[in-house]
Amino acid sequence: TDLEDLSDMKGLIDCKWSDRLLSFDVLVIFKSVQPGYLRELLPDSAPDHSESLQDVFDDIQQKIVPGITHWQSPQYFAYYPSNSSTAGFLGEMLSAGFNIVGFSWVTSPAATELEIIILDWLAKLLKLPNQFLSTESLVMASSVVLVIIRDSLAGKGGGVIQGTASEAILVVLLAARDKILRKVGKNSLEKLVVYASDQTHSALQKACQIAGIFSENVRVLKTDSSSNYALSPEVVSTAISDDLLAGLIPFFLCGTVGTTSSAAVDPLSELGKLAKAFDLWFHVDAAYAGSVCICPEYRYHINGVEEADSFGMNAHKWFLTNFDCSVLWVKDRSALIQCLSTYPEFLKNKASEENAVVDFKDWQIPLGRRFRSLKLWLVLRLYGVEKLQSYIRNHIRLAELFEQLIGYDSRFEVVTPRTFSLVCFRLIPPQNDPDNGFKLNQSLLNSVNASGKIFMSHTVLSGKFILRFAVGAPLTEDKHITMAWKVLQDQATSLLKDL
Ligand code: PLP
Repeated sequence: TDLEDLSDMKGLIDCKWSDRLLSFDVLVIFKSVQPGYLRELLPDSAPDHSESLQDVFDDIQQKIVPGITHWQSPQYFAYYPSNSSTAGFLGEMLSAGFNIVGFSWVTSPAATELEIIILDWLAKLLKLPNQFLSTESLVMASSVVLVIIRDSLAGKGGGVIQGTASEAILVVLLAARDKILRKVGKNSLEKLVVYASDQTHSALQKACQIAGIFSENVRVLKTDSSSNYALSPEVVSTAISDDLLAGLIPFFLCGTVGTTSSAAVDPLSELGKLAKAFDLWFHVDAAYAGSVCICPEYRYHINGVEEADSFGMNAHKWFLTNFDCSVLWVKDRSALIQCLSTYPEFLKNKASEENAVVDFKDWQIPLGRRFRSLKLWLVLRLYGVEKLQSYIRNHIRLAELFEQLIGYDSRFEVVTPRTFSLVCFRLIPPQNDPDNGFKLNQSLLNSVNASGKIFMSHTVLSGKFILRFAVGAPLTEDKHITMAWKVLQDQATSLLKDL
């Protein structure tokens, strides 16, 4: 992409580079290939001799691209977005070029230091409480003036980039587990209880499996349409009280801002107060919706994050930062470090020994780590906050437009209130439909996706099969929304005709 374009948002997110490299047809987002299709097209073993780049590219065009689902297509509305941008791509390219492995400060000081600084920038943008900053300002009253000391590690908290939100949830769960076990004794693992809702991402369940939390002690608390699928503090409170009576040890509560099925928002303030009252670690998972909180008018969605011990959002979802870049902040970094640090002889160095630096290997599962902060830095600098805010606002406007279009067609209904850029809706089934429209909507989704013109996904809420229309691809414009709606209407018409 012509770097001159960088002053213009459209140029910034334009995928011209990929058009030049490969002339794939972005109009077909999803082609169905059969499982194992690639094995039939590629040889059984690696070539003995080098091959030409052109031959490789030809194979990419003919064999790989047909098996690619185009997440960057403007007509992609499935799951949640996974943004790419020119700035993110450049950052990714630089990172690949440097190819450092920044597990300790000493292995590439710039990588660690940039990550600390950029995560403080982003925390400030989200107006996260100061305790999440690594540079929490210490205000000291001197006899004459207030002196503000800003030391790069003055705070007790800090941010770290993980690969995914699942890793973020796992590391905070492990930190919380070890923290409580230090208090109640190592042999109490079987008594530890985790609380979340039936809308919490399955990443928590996996984290519990890895952390050795007994499956019968994972409370998946029921939500329903009366609270728009948000977790009820009363339900949590009752569950905690029952568990305490049973001699168990409640220790971890996960709240979500923007659940995966329907973008529900859990009441953070009340949940956080409960967590504090019962001494639970409170994690807030805002993997998808965290990005909207850079807009002042949407920041209220994370009101109550002040009560949280940790907060995560995926910059690789809706923040123009190429996958992978999941951002996690904790108030007490020592909890992570105590749980995850190792210090073998071969990694010993003066800076770590003097305790003057952050070694991010102790905040994550693997040892090695990529220079991911580069791409986040480039996104923040090359776009600036104002353009990023309008980027988010535009997607929300487009989701509103889609919602309005649904409202004009009495055959459809919006199922849960739209909060961000996700619209959950369905085709209303004929009366006496034996499964209340389950198969009907399943067929609608299948036929819409088979058209190759748009790509959507689904969920099931209260037994209803629901279509999810998640706006958030960087190149989506009004015309793609109206086109998508036309595809849906046409497919619905032919389905209903055949009933
Ligand atoms: N949490 C929420 C709310 C999500 O929506 C998702 C994915 O969509 C995740 C966690 C898992 O994200 P990751 O793939 O980064 O682990």
